[in-house]
Amino acid sequence: MLDRNVKLAIPCPKCEQKIEETIARLETNPTLTCPACNATITIQAEKLRQGFQEVEQSLAKLKKKTVINLKLKL
Ligand SMILES: [Zn+2]
Repeated sequence: MLDRNVKLAIPCPKCEQKIEETIARLETNPTLTCPACNATITIQAEKLRQGFQEVEQSLAKLKKKTVINLKLKL
């Protein structure tokens, strides 16, 4: 089971600034605002699920990692 307090770093599709957010927050509200360019980013549930699978694999390898870079094509 994936720890919902793990943070994901999601690249802004406009300026590539990484936006960090916890999984718990993304599950409740998958909309992010980029702090650099103010773009509103909505992550589709399906992409979020794909991302989670990646995260689970990453966590299995790197147990101490607390921020995971999510490679999503938004
Ligand atoms: Zn941005």
